[in-house]
Amino acid sequence: MESAVVLPWHGRPESAPRELGAADWERYERHLAEILAALGMDIDTPGTRETPRRLLRALYDATAGYDGDPKLLTAFPAERDPSRSGRDGLILEGPIAFVALCEHHALPFHGVAHVAYVAGSEIIGISKLTRLVRLYARRFTVQERLGEQIADRLVELIAPRGVAVRLEAAHLCTQMRGVEETGSRTVTTFWRGTFDEDADLRREFLDEIRAAHR
Ligand SMILES: [Zn+2]
Repeated sequence: MESAVVLPWHGRPESAPRELGAADWERYERHLAEILAALGMDIDTPGTRETPRRLLRALYDATAGYDGDPKLLTAFPAERDPSRSGRDGLILEGPIAFVALCEHHALPFHGVAHVAYVAGSEIIGISKLTRLVRLYARRFTVQERLGEQIADRLVELIAPRGVAVRLEAAHLCTQMRGVEETGSRTVTTFWRGTFDEDADLRREFLDEIRAAHR
């Protein structure tokens, strides 16, 4: 990777990887088999025999954000001179697709994130922003916390002048139970730094997203 730098505060693990022993896996599979059978699934067919194992594995993979992401920890020095004055450009990435599990029902909410920042002395690549979104999406969470964590971690990683995060997601827990119409989406936005103070910058961010969807 060209000119990647690892800064002193990088390298602290987000969290230790989870450790589930083989005996734990087997016990959880048995519990899931019991629950699925009680709900009405015939769990002794060729199609369903492995379902408890697959469901457990799917849940484990969908919550892989708890294992952290060591590859997130590199930044690139921005090209611009940090002492230069004047308005700095907005760096906007998205849509970044994500799937998260709502912590109230453990059912998916899924959608897209747009992340923008005004760089300080460092920038971060698109692939890293995708990693950042997924680090926090692949957990049991709520849309509000997800956006806060993405914004705060980006501030911590590259100390930008400002950060904007917009999340748009459909929540299966409300749609499956008929609480919300299918297709309805929840939009949340989060501002840090210059975005907090500058309404023009917020408008520019939202206009660019709208233009990209036209
Ligand atoms: Zn829910």
